[in-house]
Amino acid sequence: LRSHVRPCTLMPQAPLWPIGSPHTLSFLAAVLLLAWAGLRLWLAARHIRHVQAHRHRVPEHFSAVITPDAHQRAADYTLSKTRLSQTEALADTALIALLTLAGGLHILDIFWAQLLGNRGTAHGMALFASVGLISLIAGLPFDLYRTFVLEEKFHFNRSTPAQFVRDLFKQILLSLLIGAPLLWLALLWIDALGDAWWLGIWLFWLAVNLLMALLYPAFIAPLFNRFVPLNDPLLRTRIESLLARCQFSAAGLLVMDGSRRSSHANAYFTGFGRFRRIVFFDTLLDKLDPDEIEAVLAHELGHYKRHHLWKTLGLLCVLSLVFCLALGTLLNSPLFYHALGVSTPSKAMGLILFALWLPVVLLPLRPVFSALSRRHEYEADAYACANAPHRALERALLKLYRDNAATLTPDPLYSLFYDAHPPAALRLARLP
Ligand SMILES: [Zn+2]
Repeated sequence: LRSHVRPCTLMPQAPLWPIGSPHTLSFLAAVLLLAWAGLRLWLAARHIRHVQAHRHRVPEHFSAVITPDAHQRAADYTLSKTRLSQTEALADTALIALLTLAGGLHILDIFWAQLLGNRGTAHGMALFASVGLISLIAGLPFDLYRTFVLEEKFHFNRSTPAQFVRDLFKQILLSLLIGAPLLWLALLWIDALGDAWWLGIWLFWLAVNLLMALLYPAFIAPLFNRFVPLNDPLLRTRIESLLARCQFSAAGLLVMDGSRRSSHANAYFTGFGRFRRIVFFDTLLDKLDPDEIEAVLAHELGHYKRHHLWKTLGLLCVLSLVFCLALGTLLNSPLFYHALGVSTPSKAMGLILFALWLPVVLLPLRPVFSALSRRHEYEADAYACANAPHRALERALLKLYRDNAATLTPDPLYSLFYDAHPPAALRLARLP
């Protein structure tokens, strides 16, 4: 791209890294990557300091329910998780740097191009499979550590090594059976669409997401957990009367065997329209009394009644359109590939580069998404308080904070970036 023979002139020499050259852009990308890693590490370090500083005193509002022991356990659990996230940040950074800036993808690209004889769809699929496999292997030690060391140490883990291996194989099988054909279609479609391919990819992405939202609860989730109808007659009656009061009809009230893998408790809504169902973790039903279960459900209904799902989806649609537009521009520019260590452009390679670097670009936007999500949580809490027994939500939240060992004292800036739910103290203070 650049002549290596520099003519001898009397004019000033061009700078070593002229703007717009692949070298300048590689340098800028490296700076961006380091800034990303630095921000993640710094936020985590702040969080660790803050939680440590508040480890010895239970915040006032909570001292009636949460004992000093439970508070310290939550602090230690948070510290362990945050330290692991720091190691993960370093590993992520190393992986992105090795694959892109250091030329890992370039080597894979040449290997597959020579083996397959061209850079067609098969080449693209092989590239995706290679990167998928590398990411899987790179993430595995962290998953193992999280499950069998960290969660085990705090008595949350209920998974066995056999279960872990089974889950892993199911995930790989699903990627091969569902992910691979979809990817193959997407690559073919990109070729067929010409210049408007980025718009096509956006529509494809929307369609796949909608399809998964429909298929997941009915076909995929049952591969990993058992779902049985909620059959406690007393609880059922109470829940049905709450649903009637809130004018909500659900296709099913199900209990999921969350206890198979972990003792963390939760509840969620899934599916659309008449496939809509409400899922309680068995661990949640064990811990909460009927009033509290009603309050948790009313909170979930609040999300539905305030159209949070649609608002979030709308935002995602707009944002993904912007990113696909950026994708369309970047993937047509050879500089994009060269800057990230790849010499021969191809659409599949461009998609991989984009996907690898997307988290780096998205981190500064996280506070916006988190703030939106926290606003939705406040609205759902207000709805729950208006429709469930008096103060039941507060009691449920306190129990869940305690039993899930959630920290009550997060670092405010860390929370601003990462917390999809409001920090405990603010959340309880806002309850009517
Ligand atoms: Zn919520």
